[in-house]
Amino acid sequence: MAKVKNKKIEVMRSQLIAAITETERILPGSIVNRMMRCGKKTCKCNADPPELHGPYVQWAYIHKGKQVTRWLNEKQQTLYCKPIQDGSKLRKLLSQLEEYEILSVERAEGWGAQND
Ligand SMILES: [Zn+2]
Repeated sequence: MAKVKNKKIEVMRSQLIAAITETERILPGSIVNRMMRCGKKTCKCNADPPELHGPYVQWAYIHKGKQVTRWLNEKQQTLYCKPIQDGSKLRKLLSQLEEYEILSVERAEGWGAQND
């Protein structure tokens, strides 16, 4: 059982290393597509039903404990969307690896978490 789990950890570690190697650049946070109102009373975005503007692309991330949001124009989307997605992917792989490492330690030490 422990051997099978260690094999899984090895595979996940290899996937993470491969992903880092293949990745040129990463950025934190995530991309959100937002539909907006412009504020003009007579605009279609204030009609019933409203026809909102957008989508506008927003990058949101946490820096030094504070939420930062930036609107991305098309040129910026071309530059930054892939690094943001790649960052997400790496963090997800790392997080999955940590989950298995925790289970492995918990099992090895006979501590609480025994479930898969
Ligand atoms: Zn409007």
